[in-house]
Parts: sequence; structure tokens; C-alpha cells
Amino acid sequence: MSKEILKLGIMGGTFNPIHQGHLVTAEVVRDEFKLDKVIFIPSGKPPHKDNNEIVSSDHRWMMTVLATISNKYFSVSSIEVKKKGESYTRDTILELKKIYGEASDCYFITGADVIAEISTWHKVKDLPKLTKFIAVSRPGYKLDINKIDSRFRKCTYLIEVPALAISSTEIRKRVKGRQSIKYLLPEAVESYIYKNSLYL
Ligand code: ATP
Ligand code: MG
Repeated sequence: MSKEILKLGIMGGTFNPIHQGHLVTAEVVRDEFKLDKVIFIPSGKPPHKDNNEIVSSDHRWMMTVLATISNKYFSVSSIEVKKKGESYTRDTILELKKIYGEASDCYFITGADVIAEISTWHKVKDLPKLTKFIAVSRPGYKLDINKIDSRFRKCTYLIEVPALAISSTEIRKRVKGRQSIKYLLPEAVESYIYKNSLYL
């Protein structure tokens, strides 16, 4: 086993579907922080009734693979998808460290909306020991260090990424309304959505 310490970007999300906002964010952060890899981790499907808008984990995993295939630094992990229900970020990072080495230098990438809610996550106490956070700007949300839970401020970097006001919610609405989604996400993902009649 190599002793090299890897700098790992971890990009968690529902990816329902993955879009250019996710991809530009991951690539800008990878480049700026000189990360060896960015691992996209689609979430499992939470077993709640109000989640019928979320397509299956298999579809979201496949779309994430299609979207990231052309970037040699990107990979997709099925850690959370395999668990089906909800996963804790802490457990996911511990599993990644088992795979890539306990000393791996982890950077968890989130948008401004997600970092603001971090104190509502479960089992967050240990997180600052396991990973750093990179909070990126996102149109419609304010990126403010004072809005971030004080336990995480020391291990959080704030960075500006080119603004893309794209969300999966907007893409799902557009598909349902038979509006074009061209250029909002990779062409292969667009084709996959139509081929499998997703979001109709
Ligand atoms: P939904 O509308 O279904 O919530 P989403 O577009 O917010 O979807 P998620 O899968 O929820 O996508 O987001 C995964 C991560 O990517 C989150 O940390 C989120 O803040 C970030 N993110 C999503 N879209 C953008 C964007 N356009 N710019 C920057 N960050 C983004
Ligand atoms: Mg979201």
C-alpha cells in the first residue's frame, strides 16, 4: 500500500439530477485546492413518504457516473446508495478513510445553503476532526462565515465559484413542464432522463 497522503474532495448530494452547478463547483474547488480526487457521493433514498420526487438511487448513481466520466479526477462512490436509508456524513467519511488511507486529507464540499444548516445534521460533533469543509457561493444564498455553526468555522474555507443559478428542483420542473433542459446538465444525463421517462 502506498504511503502517499491523498487530498480528497467529497461532494455529497441527492443529485436528482446532477447538473452543471455541481460539476463546475467540484472542478473549481479541485483546481484551487489541488485535490487528488473528487468523490461524488449520491445519497441513499430516505424512506419518507414525501420523497416521491426523488428517483431511485440506481438512477441517480448512473446519472452521476455519466456526468463525471470525462473528468479523470472525478469518481462516484456507492457507499450511501448501498445503505438505502439515510447515511451520516461522519460514517461516510470514516468509510472513505478506510478505502483511501486513515491519514487522507478530506475536504467536504457544500453549497452556501447546505453549510448554513450543518448544525441540524446528526452526529456532527466529530466532523471537524475528520474533515475540512469548503463552502461555495451559490446564487440565492448568502455565504457568510458568521452564519456557520461556530464549531465548524475554524475548519471551513469559503470560496467563490462562477455563479450558476441552476438547481435540480428547477430541472425537474422544466422536464415536467416539457421545457428544454439543454446545457443545464451534461447531454448524456439529459438523454438518460428522457430515455427512462424520469421526472414526468
Ligand atoms: P435540489 O433542488 O433537489 O435540492 P440541488 O440543485 O440543491 O437539488 P443537491 O443535490 O441538493 O442539488 O446539492 C448537492 C450539493 O451541491 C449541495 O452542497 C449544494 O449546495 C451544492 N449545489 C447545488 N447546486 C449548486 C449550484 N448551482 N452552485 C453551487 N453549489 C451548488
Ligand atoms: Mg439541494
